[in-house]
Amino acid sequence: MTANLLDYDLEGLAAFCERLGEKRFRATQLFRWIHQKGAANFDDMSDLAKSLREKLKTCAAVSAPRVTFQHQSTDGTIKWLFDVGAGDAVEAVFIPEDDRGTLCISSQAGCAMACRFCSTGHQGFSRNLTVAEIVGQLWFAEHFLRRHLGREDRVISNVVMMGMGEPLQNYQAVLHSLRVMLDDHGYGLSRRRVTVSTSGVVPMIDKLGRDCPVALAVSLHAPTDMLRDNLVPLNRKYPLQELLDACQRYLAFAPRDFITFEYCMLDGVNDTAEHARALVALVSAGGRSRAWCKFNLIPFNPFPASGLLRSAPAAIAAFAKILGEAGIVTTVRKTRGDDIDAACGQLAGDVMDRTAVEQRIAKQRRIEIKPLAAGAGGKLSGDAK
Ligand code: SF4
Repeated sequence: MTANLLDYDLEGLAAFCERLGEKRFRATQLFRWIHQKGAANFDDMSDLAKSLREKLKTCAAVSAPRVTFQHQSTDGTIKWLFDVGAGDAVEAVFIPEDDRGTLCISSQAGCAMACRFCSTGHQGFSRNLTVAEIVGQLWFAEHFLRRHLGREDRVISNVVMMGMGEPLQNYQAVLHSLRVMLDDHGYGLSRRRVTVSTSGVVPMIDKLGRDCPVALAVSLHAPTDMLRDNLVPLNRKYPLQELLDACQRYLAFAPRDFITFEYCMLDGVNDTAEHARALVALVSAGGRSRAWCKFNLIPFNPFPASGLLRSAPAAIAAFAKILGEAGIVTTVRKTRGDDIDAACGQLAGDVMDRTAVEQRIAKQRRIEIKPLAAGAGGKLSGDAK
């Protein structure tokens, strides 16, 4: 059977080399050729012994998922759709900025979490990606961009796992992928510049803190359990207080001294001044300093099946002002790549619905999310039961 060498972190590649009867240090050479130089052809790996190259040709390959679609936005954002077989496609997006190049990658084909505002969540879950399929997105993008931009130095400085899928539901593959990204013989990315974004899988947040504490982003989207149960169904299993406690525990390991909370701004659903004040109360409960978290407000990218609308710019600005005045660092995500649907979970929109998720979400949509009554003090409605 042919081994795909993109499936291995350095330790795994060393074990593979040993099985071939080769010294472990050969793995470091091989790893550098693959990840630092983007080589896929063993004949190009000139400092490997010819006998090893011949051996590798018989039992190994370097194989990233095939790109089926590429589109560059007018703002420089590039989106790729990767074919991962059996009709599944996953997305990656490169977002260039003055001081960094960020790649957003996927960890699963589809997603089982069924977040109400997420295009991927509406498609249902197909399967976990392999390490080669996760790392392959970075491997392809980095070396494509170097050729495309005529650069020899690293183009991608930051990786965020915010594409399709819940990374912490594909834990082992994500863990090995993170190790490839962080390895100095691989991509050499700093732990501060690699972000795992989760909808709140509490036990795995703790595990990630112990195993490979990279930057953590949490999809929050609501200040109360009642509303979050509706927007992020996983909240019924791990409610807000359990989630915030896990975030606090993670801080002991995190490469930064804060957790980022993602908050998708949904018109009339979670974007009022009362919601903002309820959020301030939530994160500062128990006398916590408000410096332990940052908020990233994301203008919702509407898609027809959601039945939701993007908050008005004035509502987003007012919301950000309340958080900011309470001492919480708050940013509003620039809408990049709007012309190519390059928002989280919104790229592979034509993938077929693989579960009954459409019916489930249609049922959720029939449940009214009532606005807060004036002065309701965080009593938000929206329970999906
Ligand atoms: S927001 Fe993330 S976790 Fe939720 S359904 Fe979309 S991809 Fe899955």
